[in-house]
Amino acid sequence: MRLSKNAKASGKDAKMKIGFIGLGNMGGGMAANLAKAGHEVHAFDLSGEALARAGEAGCHPVSDAAEAVNNMEVVVTMLPAGAHVRKVYEYEVIINANPGTLVIDCSTIDVDSARDVATMAEAKGLVPVDAPVSGGIAAANGGTLTFMVGGSDDGFKRAEPILADMGKAVIHAGGNGAGQAAKICNNMLLGASMVATCETFKMAEKLGLDLQNFYDISSKASGQNWSMTSYCPVPGVGPQSPADNGYEGGFAAALMLKDLRLAMEAAESAGADVPMGAEAAKLYEQYAEAQGQGGKDFSGIINMLDKG
Ligand code: NAD
Repeated sequence: MRLSKNAKASGKDAKMKIGFIGLGNMGGGMAANLAKAGHEVHAFDLSGEALARAGEAGCHPVSDAAEAVNNMEVVVTMLPAGAHVRKVYEYEVIINANPGTLVIDCSTIDVDSARDVATMAEAKGLVPVDAPVSGGIAAANGGTLTFMVGGSDDGFKRAEPILADMGKAVIHAGGNGAGQAAKICNNMLLGASMVATCETFKMAEKLGLDLQNFYDISSKASGQNWSMTSYCPVPGVGPQSPADNGYEGGFAAALMLKDLRLAMEAAESAGADVPMGAEAAKLYEQYAEAQGQGGKDFSGIINMLDKG
Protein backbone atom coordinates (compact mmCIF):
# COMPACT_ATOMS: atom_id res chain seq x y z
CA MET A 1 0.00 0.00 0.00
CA ARG A 2 1.36 3.42 -0.90
CA LEU A 3 0.29 6.86 0.23
CA SER A 4 1.09 9.68 -2.13
CA LYS A 5 2.12 12.84 -0.31
CA ASN A 6 3.25 14.78 -3.37
CA ALA A 7 0.43 13.83 -5.70
CA LYS A 8 -1.19 17.26 -5.36
CA ALA A 9 1.97 19.03 -6.53
CA SER A 10 2.53 16.69 -9.49
CA GLY A 11 -1.12 17.05 -10.51
CA LYS A 12 -0.56 20.75 -11.13
CA ASP A 13 1.65 20.04 -14.16
CA ALA A 14 0.13 17.84 -16.88
CA LYS A 15 -3.15 19.09 -18.34
CA MET A 16 -5.11 16.27 -19.88
CA LYS A 17 -8.06 15.66 -22.16
CA ILE A 18 -10.45 13.88 -19.81
CA GLY A 19 -13.86 12.32 -20.51
CA PHE A 20 -16.12 12.26 -17.43
CA ILE A 21 -19.28 10.10 -17.36
CA GLY A 22 -21.71 10.41 -14.42
CA LEU A 23 -22.18 13.97 -13.13
CA GLY A 24 -24.46 13.28 -10.16
CA ASN A 25 -24.05 14.30 -6.52
CA MET A 26 -20.43 13.17 -6.48
CA GLY A 27 -19.34 13.27 -10.13
CA GLY A 28 -20.60 16.85 -10.63
CA GLY A 29 -18.18 18.27 -8.07
CA MET A 30 -15.34 15.97 -9.12
CA ALA A 31 -15.58 16.94 -12.80
CA ALA A 32 -15.74 20.62 -11.79
CA ASN A 33 -12.52 20.22 -9.78
CA LEU A 34 -10.74 18.64 -12.76
CA ALA A 35 -11.82 21.60 -14.91
CA LYS A 36 -10.71 24.02 -12.19
CA ALA A 37 -7.29 22.32 -12.19
CA GLY A 38 -6.97 23.22 -15.89
CA HIS A 39 -7.88 19.91 -17.55
CA GLU A 40 -10.09 19.84 -20.65
CA VAL A 41 -13.10 17.92 -19.32
CA HIS A 42 -15.62 16.47 -21.78
CA ALA A 43 -18.56 15.66 -19.54
CA PHE A 44 -21.59 13.42 -20.10
CA ASP A 45 -24.63 12.41 -18.04
CA LEU A 46 -28.07 11.11 -19.01
CA SER A 47 -29.53 14.03 -17.05
CA GLY A 48 -29.76 17.35 -18.90
CA GLU A 49 -29.69 19.25 -15.61
CA ALA A 50 -26.47 17.59 -14.52
CA LEU A 51 -24.95 18.37 -17.94
CA ALA A 52 -25.93 22.04 -17.67
CA ARG A 53 -24.38 22.29 -14.19
CA ALA A 54 -21.14 20.78 -15.51
CA GLY A 55 -21.11 23.38 -18.29
CA GLU A 56 -21.49 26.18 -15.74
CA ALA A 57 -18.62 24.64 -13.75
CA GLY A 58 -16.16 24.89 -16.65
CA CYS A 59 -16.59 21.46 -18.33
CA HIS A 60 -17.53 20.91 -21.99
CA PRO A 61 -20.92 19.13 -21.97
CA VAL A 62 -21.17 16.50 -24.74
CA SER A 63 -24.27 14.87 -26.17
CA ASP A 64 -23.42 11.18 -25.73
CA ALA A 65 -21.05 8.88 -23.89
CA ALA A 66 -19.08 8.04 -27.04
CA GLU A 67 -18.09 11.70 -27.35
CA ALA A 68 -16.79 11.62 -23.77
CA VAL A 69 -14.56 8.67 -24.69
CA ASN A 70 -13.37 9.31 -28.28
CA ASN A 71 -9.78 10.58 -28.40
CA MET A 72 -9.52 11.18 -24.65
CA GLU A 73 -6.30 10.54 -22.73
CA VAL A 74 -8.26 9.62 -19.62
CA VAL A 75 -11.87 8.52 -19.01
CA VAL A 76 -13.39 8.80 -15.51
CA THR A 77 -16.72 7.18 -14.58
CA MET A 78 -18.76 7.97 -11.43
CA LEU A 79 -21.95 5.89 -11.73
CA PRO A 80 -24.54 4.49 -9.31
CA ALA A 81 -23.71 0.75 -9.26
CA GLY A 82 -21.97 -2.23 -10.89
CA ALA A 83 -24.64 -2.76 -13.57
CA HIS A 84 -24.22 0.85 -14.83
CA VAL A 85 -20.45 0.54 -14.93
CA ARG A 86 -20.59 -2.80 -16.80
CA LYS A 87 -22.99 -1.28 -19.35
CA VAL A 88 -21.01 1.93 -19.91
CA TYR A 89 -17.73 -0.01 -20.22
CA GLU A 90 -19.16 -2.67 -22.54
CA TYR A 91 -21.08 -0.36 -24.89
CA GLU A 92 -19.10 2.89 -24.72
CA VAL A 93 -15.64 2.83 -23.15
CA ILE A 94 -14.25 -0.43 -24.58
CA ILE A 95 -15.54 0.28 -28.07
CA ASN A 96 -14.57 3.94 -28.35
CA ALA A 97 -11.36 4.44 -26.34
CA ASN A 98 -7.98 4.49 -28.08
CA PRO A 99 -5.46 1.85 -26.94
CA GLY A 100 -3.38 3.20 -24.05
CA THR A 101 -6.22 5.31 -22.62
CA LEU A 102 -6.27 5.41 -18.82
CA VAL A 103 -9.78 4.42 -17.64
CA ILE A 104 -10.60 5.20 -14.01
CA ASP A 105 -13.83 4.02 -12.38
CA CYS A 106 -14.54 5.96 -9.16
CA SER A 107 -18.00 4.42 -8.53
CA THR A 108 -18.50 2.10 -5.55
CA ILE A 109 -19.24 -1.32 -7.07
CA ASP A 110 -18.77 -5.03 -6.34
CA VAL A 111 -15.27 -6.43 -6.61
CA ASP A 112 -16.26 -8.97 -9.31
CA SER A 113 -17.65 -6.25 -11.63
CA ALA A 114 -14.52 -4.14 -11.05
CA ARG A 115 -12.27 -7.09 -12.01
CA ASP A 116 -14.43 -8.01 -15.03
CA VAL A 117 -14.43 -4.52 -16.55
CA ALA A 118 -10.68 -4.26 -15.91
CA THR A 119 -10.09 -7.55 -17.77
CA MET A 120 -12.24 -6.33 -20.69
CA ALA A 121 -10.39 -3.00 -20.77
CA GLU A 122 -6.95 -4.62 -20.66
CA ALA A 123 -7.88 -6.93 -23.52
CA LYS A 124 -8.50 -3.78 -25.62
CA GLY A 125 -5.11 -2.30 -24.61
CA LEU A 126 -6.58 0.21 -22.15
CA VAL A 127 -5.12 0.87 -18.69
CA PRO A 128 -7.87 0.25 -16.09
CA VAL A 129 -7.92 1.47 -12.50
CA ASP A 130 -10.67 1.22 -9.86
CA ALA A 131 -10.59 4.23 -7.54
CA PRO A 132 -13.61 4.38 -5.22
CA VAL A 133 -13.75 7.26 -2.77
CA SER A 134 -14.18 7.91 0.90
CA GLY A 135 -15.89 11.23 1.68
CA GLY A 136 -19.33 12.50 0.76
CA ILE A 137 -20.74 15.27 -1.42
CA ALA A 138 -18.98 18.06 0.52
CA ALA A 139 -15.61 16.32 -0.01
CA ALA A 140 -16.39 15.81 -3.72
CA ASN A 141 -17.19 19.52 -4.08
CA GLY A 142 -14.26 20.61 -1.94
CA GLY A 143 -11.70 18.34 -3.63
CA THR A 144 -10.89 16.53 -0.38
CA LEU A 145 -11.83 12.94 -1.23
CA THR A 146 -9.66 9.93 -0.32
CA PHE A 147 -9.12 7.55 -3.25
CA MET A 148 -8.39 3.83 -2.76
CA VAL A 149 -6.83 2.61 -5.95
CA GLY A 150 -6.71 -0.86 -7.51
CA GLY A 151 -4.58 -1.38 -10.61
CA SER A 152 -1.09 -1.94 -11.97
CA ASP A 153 1.85 0.18 -10.83
CA ASP A 154 1.77 1.95 -14.19
CA GLY A 155 -2.00 2.57 -13.92
CA PHE A 156 -1.57 3.95 -10.41
CA LYS A 157 1.31 6.21 -11.46
CA ARG A 158 -0.76 7.68 -14.28
CA ALA A 159 -3.97 7.99 -12.23
CA GLU A 160 -2.35 9.52 -9.14
CA PRO A 161 -1.98 13.16 -10.33
CA ILE A 162 -5.49 13.20 -11.84
CA LEU A 163 -7.05 11.85 -8.65
CA ALA A 164 -4.98 14.28 -6.59
CA ASP A 165 -6.79 17.13 -8.35
CA MET A 166 -10.03 15.81 -6.79
CA GLY A 167 -8.79 14.64 -3.40
CA LYS A 168 -6.53 14.93 -0.41
CA ALA A 169 -5.13 11.38 -0.41
CA VAL A 170 -4.50 8.78 -3.13
CA ILE A 171 -3.57 5.34 -1.85
CA HIS A 172 -2.53 2.30 -3.91
CA ALA A 173 -4.33 -0.73 -2.43
CA GLY A 174 -3.11 -3.42 -4.87
CA GLY A 175 -4.16 -4.92 -8.22
CA ASN A 176 -7.47 -4.39 -10.05
CA GLY A 177 -10.43 -4.68 -7.65
CA ALA A 178 -8.30 -3.94 -4.56
CA GLY A 179 -9.63 -0.37 -4.37
CA GLN A 180 -13.19 -1.69 -4.17
CA ALA A 181 -12.15 -4.34 -1.62
CA ALA A 182 -10.55 -1.67 0.60
CA LYS A 183 -13.60 0.59 0.26
CA ILE A 184 -16.15 -2.02 1.35
CA CYS A 185 -13.95 -3.26 4.20
CA ASN A 186 -13.63 0.35 5.41
CA ASN A 187 -17.35 1.03 5.10
CA MET A 188 -18.32 -2.21 6.83
CA LEU A 189 -16.18 -1.07 9.77
CA LEU A 190 -17.75 2.41 9.60
CA GLY A 191 -21.34 1.03 9.56
CA ALA A 192 -20.69 -1.29 12.50
CA SER A 193 -18.84 1.39 14.50
CA MET A 194 -21.60 3.94 13.88
CA VAL A 195 -24.27 1.55 15.18
CA ALA A 196 -22.09 0.73 18.21
CA THR A 197 -21.55 4.45 18.89
CA CYS A 198 -25.28 5.19 18.58
CA GLU A 199 -26.37 2.41 20.93
CA THR A 200 -23.68 3.41 23.43
CA PHE A 201 -24.91 7.02 23.62
CA LYS A 202 -28.50 5.78 23.97
CA MET A 203 -27.49 3.49 26.83
CA ALA A 204 -25.45 6.25 28.49
CA GLU A 205 -28.56 8.45 28.40
CA LYS A 206 -30.74 5.72 29.95
CA LEU A 207 -28.13 5.26 32.68
CA GLY A 208 -28.49 8.94 33.53
CA LEU A 209 -25.16 10.17 32.17
CA ASP A 210 -24.82 13.68 30.78
CA LEU A 211 -24.01 13.02 27.11
CA GLN A 212 -21.48 15.84 26.71
CA ASN A 213 -19.73 14.60 29.84
CA PHE A 214 -19.76 11.02 28.54
CA TYR A 215 -18.34 12.26 25.20
CA ASP A 216 -15.54 14.07 27.07
CA ILE A 217 -14.68 10.82 28.85
CA SER A 218 -15.07 8.30 26.03
CA SER A 219 -13.41 10.46 23.37
CA LYS A 220 -10.27 10.34 25.53
CA ALA A 221 -10.69 6.72 26.57
CA SER A 222 -10.55 3.38 24.75
CA GLY A 223 -14.03 3.71 23.24
CA GLN A 224 -12.85 6.61 21.04
CA ASN A 225 -13.59 6.10 17.34
CA TRP A 226 -14.20 8.18 14.19
CA SER A 227 -18.01 7.87 14.36
CA MET A 228 -17.85 9.49 17.79
CA THR A 229 -15.16 12.14 17.53
CA SER A 230 -15.50 13.23 13.89
CA TYR A 231 -19.18 12.53 13.21
CA CYS A 232 -20.97 12.35 16.55
CA PRO A 233 -24.57 11.09 16.09
CA VAL A 234 -25.81 13.15 19.08
CA PRO A 235 -26.93 16.73 18.31
CA GLY A 236 -24.90 19.40 20.13
CA VAL A 237 -22.16 16.99 21.16
CA GLY A 238 -18.74 16.81 19.47
CA PRO A 239 -17.85 18.68 16.27
CA GLN A 240 -20.52 19.94 13.87
CA SER A 241 -22.09 16.93 12.10
CA PRO A 242 -25.31 15.99 10.26
CA ALA A 243 -26.88 15.30 13.70
CA ASP A 244 -26.83 19.09 14.19
CA ASN A 245 -28.76 19.51 10.97
CA GLY A 246 -31.67 17.12 11.56
CA TYR A 247 -29.61 14.24 10.09
CA GLU A 248 -29.73 15.87 6.64
CA GLY A 249 -26.72 16.02 4.27
CA GLY A 250 -23.66 13.87 4.84
CA PHE A 251 -23.70 10.21 3.78
CA ALA A 252 -27.18 8.80 3.10
CA ALA A 253 -28.31 5.68 5.00
CA ALA A 254 -29.34 4.16 1.63
CA LEU A 255 -25.71 4.41 0.44
CA MET A 256 -24.45 2.86 3.68
CA LEU A 257 -26.90 0.01 3.10
CA LYS A 258 -25.64 -0.35 -0.49
CA ASP A 259 -22.03 -0.61 0.75
CA LEU A 260 -22.94 -3.07 3.52
CA ARG A 261 -24.70 -5.27 0.98
CA LEU A 262 -21.60 -5.19 -1.23
CA ALA A 263 -19.57 -6.12 1.85
CA MET A 264 -21.87 -9.06 2.61
CA GLU A 265 -21.56 -10.30 -1.01
CA ALA A 266 -17.78 -10.01 -0.85
CA ALA A 267 -17.64 -11.76 2.55
CA GLU A 268 -19.72 -14.62 1.16
CA SER A 269 -17.55 -15.06 -1.92
CA ALA A 270 -14.29 -14.76 0.07
CA GLY A 271 -15.51 -17.04 2.90
CA ALA A 272 -15.01 -14.33 5.57
CA ASP A 273 -16.88 -14.50 8.89
CA VAL A 274 -18.42 -11.04 9.53
CA PRO A 275 -21.05 -11.22 12.29
CA MET A 276 -20.83 -7.52 13.26
CA GLY A 277 -20.97 -6.38 9.64
CA ALA A 278 -23.97 -8.64 9.06
CA GLU A 279 -25.78 -7.16 12.06
CA ALA A 280 -25.04 -3.62 10.83
CA ALA A 281 -26.39 -4.58 7.37
CA LYS A 282 -29.60 -5.89 8.99
CA LEU A 283 -30.06 -2.72 11.04
CA TYR A 284 -29.43 -0.38 8.10
CA GLU A 285 -31.91 -2.39 6.02
CA GLN A 286 -34.50 -1.82 8.73
CA TYR A 287 -33.69 1.90 9.02
CA ALA A 288 -33.25 2.77 5.32
CA GLU A 289 -35.96 0.53 3.85
CA ALA A 290 -38.52 -0.72 6.41
CA GLN A 291 -38.59 2.69 8.11
CA GLY A 292 -38.15 4.64 4.85
CA GLN A 293 -35.24 6.75 6.17
CA GLY A 294 -32.78 6.01 3.34
CA GLY A 295 -32.44 9.71 2.50
CA LYS A 296 -31.34 10.63 6.03
CA ASP A 297 -27.70 10.70 7.04
CA PHE A 298 -26.49 7.27 8.21
CA SER A 299 -25.92 8.56 11.77
CA GLY A 300 -29.72 9.05 12.00
CA ILE A 301 -29.95 5.34 12.83
CA ILE A 302 -29.56 6.52 16.44
CA ASN A 303 -33.25 7.46 16.32
CA MET A 304 -34.23 3.89 15.47
CA LEU A 305 -32.34 2.62 18.50
CA ASP A 306 -34.48 4.75 20.82
CA LYS A 307 -37.03 2.64 22.64
CA GLY A 308 -38.44 5.80 24.23
P1 NAD B 1 -25.95 9.93 -8.28
O1 NAD B 1 -27.09 9.01 -8.50
O2 NAD B 1 -26.18 11.27 -7.72
O3 NAD B 1 -25.16 10.13 -9.67
C1 NAD B 1 -25.01 9.13 -10.66
C2 NAD B 1 -25.13 9.82 -12.01
O4 NAD B 1 -24.86 8.84 -13.03
C3 NAD B 1 -26.53 10.37 -12.27
O5 NAD B 1 -26.43 11.76 -12.57
C4 NAD B 1 -27.03 9.55 -13.48
O6 NAD B 1 -27.84 10.30 -14.36
C5 NAD B 1 -25.72 9.15 -14.12
N1 NAD B 1 -25.82 7.98 -14.98
C6 NAD B 1 -26.40 6.78 -14.73
N2 NAD B 1 -26.26 5.95 -15.79
C7 NAD B 1 -25.59 6.65 -16.74
C8 NAD B 1 -25.14 6.35 -18.06
N3 NAD B 1 -25.37 5.17 -18.62
N4 NAD B 1 -24.49 7.32 -18.74
C9 NAD B 1 -24.26 8.53 -18.18
N5 NAD B 1 -24.67 8.88 -16.95
C10 NAD B 1 -25.31 7.95 -16.23
O7 NAD B 1 -24.91 9.10 -7.38
P2 NAD B 1 -23.70 9.70 -6.50
O8 NAD B 1 -24.18 10.01 -5.14
O9 NAD B 1 -22.99 10.73 -7.30
O10 NAD B 1 -22.79 8.41 -6.35
C11 NAD B 1 -22.00 7.93 -7.41
C12 NAD B 1 -21.16 6.78 -6.90
O11 NAD B 1 -20.36 7.22 -5.81
C13 NAD B 1 -21.99 5.60 -6.36
O12 NAD B 1 -21.36 4.41 -6.76
C14 NAD B 1 -21.95 5.81 -4.86
O13 NAD B 1 -22.08 4.59 -4.13
C15 NAD B 1 -20.56 6.39 -4.68
N6 NAD B 1 -20.40 7.25 -3.48
C16 NAD B 1 -21.36 8.17 -3.15
C17 NAD B 1 -21.18 8.97 -2.02
C18 NAD B 1 -22.21 10.02 -1.63
O14 NAD B 1 -22.13 10.55 -0.51
N7 NAD B 1 -23.16 10.36 -2.50
C19 NAD B 1 -20.02 8.82 -1.24
C20 NAD B 1 -19.05 7.90 -1.62
C21 NAD B 1 -19.25 7.12 -2.74
